[in-house]
Amino acid sequence: MTFEYAPALESRSIVSIKAKYGHFINGSFVAGKKHFPTINPATEEILSHIALGGASDVDKAVMAAQKAYTKTWSKLSGKERGKYLYRIARILQERAREFAVLETLDNGKPIRETRDIDIPLVAAHFFYHAGWADKLDYAGLGHSPKAYGVAGQIIPWNFPLLMLAWKVAPALATGNTVVLKPAETTSLTALLFAEVCQQAELPDGVVNIVTGDGSTGAAIVNHPGVHKIAFTGSTDVGKKIARAIASTDKKATLELGGKGANIVFDDAPIDETVEGIVNGIFFNQGHVCCAGSRLIVQESVAEEVIEKLKVRMAKIRVGDPLDKNTDLGAINSKEQLVKIKELSAIGDAEGAERWSPQCNLSNKGFWFAPTIFTGVTQANRIAQEEIFGPVLSVLTFRTPQEAIDKANNTPFGLSAGIWSEKGSRIFWASQHLKAGVIWANTFNKFDPASPFGGYKESGWGREGGKHGLAAYLKTGKETGAK
Ligand code: NDP
Repeated sequence: MTFEYAPALESRSIVSIKAKYGHFINGSFVAGKKHFPTINPATEEILSHIALGGASDVDKAVMAAQKAYTKTWSKLSGKERGKYLYRIARILQERAREFAVLETLDNGKPIRETRDIDIPLVAAHFFYHAGWADKLDYAGLGHSPKAYGVAGQIIPWNFPLLMLAWKVAPALATGNTVVLKPAETTSLTALLFAEVCQQAELPDGVVNIVTGDGSTGAAIVNHPGVHKIAFTGSTDVGKKIARAIASTDKKATLELGGKGANIVFDDAPIDETVEGIVNGIFFNQGHVCCAGSRLIVQESVAEEVIEKLKVRMAKIRVGDPLDKNTDLGAINSKEQLVKIKELSAIGDAEGAERWSPQCNLSNKGFWFAPTIFTGVTQANRIAQEEIFGPVLSVLTFRTPQEAIDKANNTPFGLSAGIWSEKGSRIFWASQHLKAGVIWANTFNKFDPASPFGGYKESGWGREGGKHGLAAYLKTGKETGAK
């Protein structure tokens, strides 16, 4: 007897993608002038054409956001703003499957992750911030903290809708209005979110979405009507933004790159640790700013850890992102694949030893097998630069102090992980690591209540939790923000 499988609930047929999109300004979709294609990175199929926003589109969006701020949003009580946020959160939950499929098609990440991580976290961010909207007076942020006005928000392609939620939910909860630009390769879920704003009857102009490229982002940053910038992306662009606003009174939070250290002490439970290492670097194809991209393992257990890691890596399923058994999906773009290949070739040239399991990678689309480099030294570029792909650099240490010195020896300071059975060792290490987020015996755990952000070239300020609210309010207490 054979059993027929029922069709997957998360199938392509549940999303409807328009052939062409415009911008979302003042509560309506408005036609764009020029368009560029957006493709499915797993198949290279053109999904749609996205409008390329220019300075005049940004200007219209900022005007709409300013008007919405003065005439409507700043006049509503926190309780009323909260109602809209709750409504958005519930609609996102109702349409979760549609968002998960669309995100997977546009980004290339596995449906298991969009379905179980991205979209539930998106809804959680709106619920969390809805709860804060009427309690800002009691948040320890000063008496009646005031919004800045219009927030300009620029997001990357690695967690498209989740980064939108990280930006839009706190901005709206604190009474700001928004002009947001999604990344060039992943605009579709932001445009579907615009439909959710309409469905929730959010007042016109409170959320505006202008699609486009880097020049569109720069037009938002430089617009005089934007009072607060929230950016997530590369350190290079973060520096450009910092320079652009240096002589203005604009506030900014910048969430930039990382080169997270995952430190394994010799008393760590090895099997659980190997799971944590895999999650740390291969989650989301390694397109994660806080990825555990440097494994720093105690010499006495290094051989055992690497051996078990290779066995585990051989079981990672690489392939169709819409198949719910897939662990590792497609690389988001051809450009990113080229960058991963280039940095990996530099790893070879620097003398590190490369290993990947046997994988049958499709000829269509952008793919890179999970990879580790052993014998990496601190001076190697693959130990210093963000590869932003499924590539792990392995270094070893003998003493705890050496582990800390190696972990801190990069220009970044975003995340770190510590694996040890000893609480005292974990506390000691976490006090000495220069990283904004430190996980102990786990990795890549996110929660809207938990502030996220970095030191050094990993950025300014925090997003999430009470610290994230402060960054959108005139409190004089913007933790770490400009
Ligand atoms: P970018 O920093 O270029 O892109 C992030 C966002 O900024 C995108 O929306 C982008 O638009 C926009 N942008 C680009 N130039 C400007 C500008 N001058 N002013 C304002 N906004 C701008 O990252 P990339 O997508 O190009 O990726 C490059 C590298 O950055 C990756 O290889 C990775 O190492 C790193 N990265 C790090 C991320 C993180 O979270 N730490 C996230 C994404 C990338 P557009 O999409 O049109 O270019």
